[in-house]
Amino acid sequence: MAKTERLQKFYNSLSWQKARDYKIASAGYLCEVCGGVGEIVHHKIPLTEANMHNPKISIANENLQLVCRSCHKRIHDELDGKGRRIYFDKDGNIEPY
Ligand SMILES: [Zn+2]
Ligand SMILES: [Zn+2]
Repeated sequence: MAKTERLQKFYNSLSWQKARDYKIASAGYLCEVCGGVGEIVHHKIPLTEANMHNPKISIANENLQLVCRSCHKRIHDELDGKGRRIYFDKDGNIEPY
């Protein structure tokens, strides 16, 4: 299995769906950066194969941030400037991680 497939499996898992739903509800459906419509649950410490099985990173509310698409893009543009990897889904959108 490719790296992206393993991470994708995590995103399909029930524990992630639950953590995501909880984060969205606890943030009041709003982007935590700009107050716009929250669309993406972002991992503050980016999820990798090395930490995806650590619930403190992968599903802990403290490591999650509800953001809108433009803030998410901006966050990743900044992270990518420091050499982080990004992923794109089949529609060309940046994958939440
Ligand atoms: Zn925003
Ligand atoms: Zn992100």
